[in-house]
Amino acid sequence: MSNGILIFAEVTRDNYIHTVFFELVNKARELSKKLDGQPIMAVIFSKPDLVKEFQEGFTNTGIDKVFVYEDNAFENYSTQTYANLITELVKEIDPAIFLIGATNQGRDLAPRISSALQTGLTADCIELDINEKGQLAATRPTFGGQLMATILCKTFPQMATVREGVMKKEVYNQNHKGEVNRLDVSKYVEDSDFCIEILERHIEQQKVNIKGAQIIVCGGYGMASKPDGFKLLHELAETLGGEVGATRAAVDAGMTEHERQVGQTGVTVRPKLYIGCGVSGAVQHRAGMQESSKIISINTDVNAPLNSIADYTITGDAFEIIPKLIKYYKKNSK
Ligand code: FAD
Repeated sequence: MSNGILIFAEVTRDNYIHTVFFELVNKARELSKKLDGQPIMAVIFSKPDLVKEFQEGFTNTGIDKVFVYEDNAFENYSTQTYANLITELVKEIDPAIFLIGATNQGRDLAPRISSALQTGLTADCIELDINEKGQLAATRPTFGGQLMATILCKTFPQMATVREGVMKKEVYNQNHKGEVNRLDVSKYVEDSDFCIEILERHIEQQKVNIKGAQIIVCGGYGMASKPDGFKLLHELAETLGGEVGATRAAVDAGMTEHERQVGQTGVTVRPKLYIGCGVSGAVQHRAGMQESSKIISINTDVNAPLNSIADYTITGDAFEIIPKLIKYYKKNSK
């Protein structure tokens, strides 16, 4: 009988384990409790010896068993090889649930594996739970984000990809020691699987990192009435030591870069403080920020939907309020 929760541990280009993996492990611990403590397992691909470096931080997250594929070839991601090896591993260990981060790599990999295993895949989930029958209940936005659909899968493993940043990452028991199993790469891989040779890599450095920001000053279309709307937001963000985010309406109006877009078709953020300035709070926007620890909404409209989830609302013109915030913050902080 299918048993356990398997998680794909993506290794980033700069040789870190992707943060979405730790978010998934945390959620898996919660799911495992509802499944009478089923084991949590991970599968990772890496170049030789890298896993040794990861080992401690890896298993003390609460992982019971790690399956490692090590080879120089895994310095670079390879769709076919990864999909073949994971498919065979899943057939062998028969997990009940298989979770993958909805990163570029995860989105490429998950459908290939689910199709090879002839099982269902719920993509881009924002919530996972176990229902009263012990099935994975995977929730994702649908109909352009107007509705949330909870999807059950009748086949095994029940697969889901999960958006980055929507689930919490928490420290677990530092003494937890999982078992590490090194697997034979040659068993299922043909030479032809390694048919792509990467000659050169050109990486454009990320200019904006709102995902990691603890304070986000988010600008909406309400900042469009004056040409310097976003300049003012940058000034506030700089004063507070935060980053500037934006709504899709602001991005579409050319007020700032797409990398700053928060929401269903942008990034999901979970800062300690989110300040919405001229943001109405459409459902597609809220999907990307509603887990923020504290939310402040600055809006001329007292009935703006963002106000209904805000901890504090300031009703008024953002162009008058923001300079005052900057002034008083500077005056009162040393
Ligand atoms: P508006 O809705 O126009 O709101 C502007 C607000 O500013 C109003 O509440 C107004 O009262 C206030 N205001 C005006 N002047 C001032 C002032 N001087 N001071 C203070 N307040 C002022 N949206 C996203 O943000 N992210 C997404 O990822 C996203 N994905 C989408 C995906 C799909 C499939 C669809 C259909 C839509 C998506 N949207 C997304 C768009 C979303 O539906 C909204 O249209 C958008 O979020 C609205 O942006 P806004 O709040 O900036 O603008």
